[in-house]
Amino acid sequence: MTAGMSSSEKMPVLFLGHGSPMNAIEENEFVAGFRKLALELPRPQAILCVSAHWETRGTWVTAMEKPPTIHDFGGFPKALYEVQYPAPGSPELARETKAIIQHTEIGLDQSWGFDHGAWSVIRHLYPKADVPLIQMSLDAYQLPQHHFDLAKDLSLLRRKGVLIIGSGNMVHNLRMVAWDRLEDAGYGYDWALEASAKMKAFILDGNSQGLIHFRAQGKSFDLAIPTPEHYLPMLYALALQEKGEPVRIFNDKAIAGSLTMTSLKIG
Ligand code: ZN
Repeated sequence: MTAGMSSSEKMPVLFLGHGSPMNAIEENEFVAGFRKLALELPRPQAILCVSAHWETRGTWVTAMEKPPTIHDFGGFPKALYEVQYPAPGSPELARETKAIIQHTEIGLDQSWGFDHGAWSVIRHLYPKADVPLIQMSLDAYQLPQHHFDLAKDLSLLRRKGVLIIGSGNMVHNLRMVAWDRLEDAGYGYDWALEASAKMKAFILDGNSQGLIHFRAQGKSFDLAIPTPEHYLPMLYALALQEKGEPVRIFNDKAIAGSLTMTSLKIG
């Protein structure tokens, strides 16, 4: 156990639908949902975020003292590039994470930082950037079951005051975005709403096998998950659900046809 991380009550686990990077600086109902959530959370000792936007070979955790804010997108207004999220890193938590994960070897990273999958949402939870934050990458070469099993090893951190956050989008098909309906929160294509409803039913039924085997769920899932990186962070969160723990669904809306902002609080 690391110094300063006393054992405390079990922290909830979150999956946050991050959507457009503009959610970092816009005022909208999703941002309001994140702020409202923050009021219900016990104060964490540190945060570990699994972001859709950090894919690697092997699994890595950021291990620097002062991770830089990464603006990993193009074509957005200048104001978005000016956002900094100067939360401290935690080499200590990185080492501890490496030590507790048995499922695979974890690398200590010195080159990444905070990508927008992390800071665009976490800045609404902790605007003062005063909670130490590390990111854990997604191994792009592994199957969903591997991610789910690996995530289970993080369970111990919940009892050490670490808030684990998966950041992605359950339904995420950028090639099919309805650019003319961007402002219209709630607008989803039929297949997007169908996939979203099935995913939520699996979640509420505790059917993790159905969620892990998303490639066997038919056309609506194939369209909702053309590539898995925005979906997998949800599996990380759900893998940590313990027997009897409730899941609360919030920000549960489609946007621009082919995305959902649906987010989860577990425990
Ligand atoms: Zn994203």
